[in-house]
Amino acid sequence: MDKPVEKFIAPFRVESGKKFRLKDFSTSDTNGFKDKDQAERLLAQGVEWMSEQQEMLYAQDRYSLLLIFQAMDAAGKDGTIKHVMSGVNPQGVHVYSFKQPTSEELDHEFLWRFAKRMPERGKICIFNRSYYEDVLVVRVHPEYLTHAKLPPEAIGKKIWDHRYESIRDFEKHHARQGTIIRKFFLHVSRDEQRRRLLSRLEERSKNWKFAASDIAERVHWDEYQRAYEDAIAATATKEAPWYVVPADHKWFTRLVVAGVIVDALASLRLQFPKVDQHKRKELKAIEAVLRREK
Ligand code: ATP
Ligand code: MG
Repeated sequence: MDKPVEKFIAPFRVESGKKFRLKDFSTSDTNGFKDKDQAERLLAQGVEWMSEQQEMLYAQDRYSLLLIFQAMDAAGKDGTIKHVMSGVNPQGVHVYSFKQPTSEELDHEFLWRFAKRMPERGKICIFNRSYYEDVLVVRVHPEYLTHAKLPPEAIGKKIWDHRYESIRDFEKHHARQGTIIRKFFLHVSRDEQRRRLLSRLEERSKNWKFAASDIAERVHWDEYQRAYEDAIAATATKEAPWYVVPADHKWFTRLVVAGVIVDALASLRLQFPKVDQHKRKELKAIEAVLRREK
C-alpha cells in the first residue's frame, strides 16, 4: 500500500527550503484525478486503514503523531480535519484550535501553549493553527508583538530568524523523542477564497462561518503569501516536512492529506504488541477459569 501513496504525495512535500517558491506549487492541481467519486472511494479506504493503524499506535504506546494545519481563511482546514479523521477512535485523537493568545499565554514565551498540548505516546494530535501563527499573522501585524511583553532586546531585526530557529529546534527535539510531525499548508487561490467567502454570505446555513475579520486579512493577501513562503522555507526539514496541498478542490485536498497520514503511519511499521510466553500461559489459565464458570 505504501509505495503508490509515497509517489502520490511526493510532489507536494517540502523538506528543504532550498529553492522553495510558493508560486511553483499549484492551488488547483488534481494530479490526473478527474473523478471526484474515485477520490472519495480511495479516501474511504485510507480512512479505514488509518483507523486500524491508530489502534496499533495506541496499543504500542511508543510513538505519537502531530499534524499541523495552516492556511488562509476558508481554505478548508476544518472540513479536511473532519473528513480525514472521521474513522479514527476519538479517544486516540485530540484536535486543538489555536486562536489569539490569552493574557496568561502572553505571559510565557510563544511555544509554551503548544508544548503543553503535544501528543502523548500512542496519540494523534491535530493543531488547527499553531506556533506558525507567531511567524505569520504576527509578522503581517507586528503590532501584536507589543502585546507579547517581550524584552526590548528580543524585538530586533533578527526576531523572525530566531523564531524559525526555535521552531526547528522544538520540532527536532520532539521528533527525536518519537513524535512524527507532518505540516500542511492548504494552498488556496485568492479567487477561490473569494468564491467561498461569497457563498458564506449568500447561503444562510453558512452565514455563521463568515467573519468580517476574514475580509480584513484578505487585504493583506500578498504579505501573508510571502510570510508563508519564508516560514515554510525556513522550517522544512526531513524530520518535520511541509506539504503544500492544492486547496481549490476540497475533495483533492482531503485525499492528499489522508495520503500523507497513511504514509506517516506506514513508516512506523506498526504491529500490536507481542505477548510473551509467560503472559500467554497466564491468559490461557484465565480463559480456562472463565470457561468453567458456565
Ligand atoms: P475558521 O475557519 O473558522 O475561520 P480560524 O482558524 O480562522 O477558523 P478564527 O477563530 O476565525 O479561527 O481565527 C483565529 C484567529 O486567531 C486567526 O485569525 C489567527 O490568525 C489568530 N491567531 C492565532 N494565533 C495567533 C497569535 N499568536 N497572535 C495573533 N493572532 C493569532
Ligand atoms: Mg477565521
